[in-house]
Amino acid sequence: MNIFVLNSGSSSIKYQLFRWPAERPVCSGLVERVGSAQATITHQVFDLQAPANPPAETKLTLPLADHEAGLHEVVRLLTAAPGGIIADPADIAIVGHRVVHGGETYAAATRITPAVKAEIKRLFALAPLHNPANYVGIEVAERVFAQARQVAVFDTAFHQTLPERAFRYALPTALYTEQRIRKYGFHGTSHQYVAAQAAAYLQKPDARLITIHLGNGCSMAAVRDGQSLDTSMGFSPLAGLVMGTRSGDIDPSVLLYLLGPLGYTAEQVNTLLNKESGMLGLTGSNDMRDIGAALAAGDARAALAYDLYAYRIRQYIGAYTAVLNGLDAIVFTAGVGENDALVRSRVCENMEFFGLNLDEDKNQQRLPGLRELNRPESRVKILVIPTAEELEIARQCADLLSR
Ligand code: ADP
Repeated sequence: MNIFVLNSGSSSIKYQLFRWPAERPVCSGLVERVGSAQATITHQVFDLQAPANPPAETKLTLPLADHEAGLHEVVRLLTAAPGGIIADPADIAIVGHRVVHGGETYAAATRITPAVKAEIKRLFALAPLHNPANYVGIEVAERVFAQARQVAVFDTAFHQTLPERAFRYALPTALYTEQRIRKYGFHGTSHQYVAAQAAAYLQKPDARLITIHLGNGCSMAAVRDGQSLDTSMGFSPLAGLVMGTRSGDIDPSVLLYLLGPLGYTAEQVNTLLNKESGMLGLTGSNDMRDIGAALAAGDARAALAYDLYAYRIRQYIGAYTAVLNGLDAIVFTAGVGENDALVRSRVCENMEFFGLNLDEDKNQQRLPGLRELNRPESRVKILVIPTAEELEIARQCADLLSR
C-alpha cells in the first residue's frame, strides 16, 4: 500500500512516499519557491535493498505557477521511467496531510471530509501562517490523487490531553469559552513519535519523559504514559523556548510598550516577534552552525545567545520534572537537538539535582539513530532520537484506515 505524506507550506511542498508497512520511505522530496519562475524540486529515491547507498537525486529548476503545478511535476517524477516508483497517481492509496492546527476538534488523525475541510478553514484565524497552505495542499491532492483516501494529521492533536490547569490562561473565562483562547501546543507529531520511541527503548510504557524538539521552531513536552501533560508552545508557536527567529516567552507588557510609546504597528510587532527575534535577534544569524562557529571565534553575542537558549530549556526541565513528579529520560530531537553537542552539553550542565549526568565523549560522537548519552550512573537517561514526523504521519494514517 502506497502512502504519500504531504506537508504543504505557503511556497513549499515536502513529501515522502512509503510502501507500507515498510517504515523507510521509498522517496522524499522538497519543492521550493512555488509560485515563481525559478522554483526548484529536489527528489530523492532510496535504495531500500541497500539503505547504506546514497539516494538517487534529481534536481530541477523550473517555473511553477502554483501548488497544483508543483504536485503534477512531483507525480511526473514519481511515474517517470526508469525507476518509476508508481505507474499512475491511482496507485497512491492514502495521502497523509500535515495540518498545523486542529483546534480543540481533533485529538487524532482524521479522514478528510467536507466537514473536516470546513473546520480546517475555520481555524485559519488561529493559524494564519500555516492552515491556509495546508488547506491548499488538501484541495490539490484531492484533484491529483482523486482515488486516494485523504487523511489529516494535526500538529496540535497530541497535546489535546493537557489538563485544563495546563492549557488555560488566567484571562477572563469568556475569552476561552467564546474565543477559544488557550494553549494548544505544536510539534505534536514529533513529540509523540520520539516519546513512543523512548518508551519502547526504556521498555517502560508509563515512562516520565521530557521531549525537547529543537529545530527552527523549538518546543518541549512533558509526557507520561504516552500522553502529553504540558508543552511549551501555547496559543501559537511563538511561546516558550528561544527559537531560530522567534522570541519565545516574553512579558506581554513588552508588546504594549512596543505598540504604545515606541509606535510599532501590530504588523511590525508580529514580524519582530516571529521573524527577527530569537537567535537571529541576539546574534544576527538563526543557524546554530554559524552561531557555534562565532562562539568558537570568541564572539560575545554568540556566547550570550547560547547561554540564554540553554538556560530556558533548563528552566523548562525543572518545571516539567515537577509536572511529572519525577523523570526517567530527556530526549533531544530535530536539527539542533540531534546535531548540536554544545547545546546538549550546556543544557545538561549543573543539573545533578535533576539526575542528569552527561557522558561528554558520547555526546561528541556523531552517530546515526537512537543514542544514549548519559553516564551509567545517571539517574535520568539522556537520549538523542532522530525525529521522523512523516513516518509518524504514515503510521497514523495506516492505523486509522485499518480500523
Ligand atoms: P525545522 O524546524 O525547519 O524542521 P530542523 O529540525 O531541520 O528545522 O532544524 C533546522 C536547524 O537545525 C537549522 O536552523 C540549524 O540551526 C540546525 N542544524 C542543522 N544541522 C546542524 C548541525 N550539524 N549543527 C548544529 N545545528 C544544526
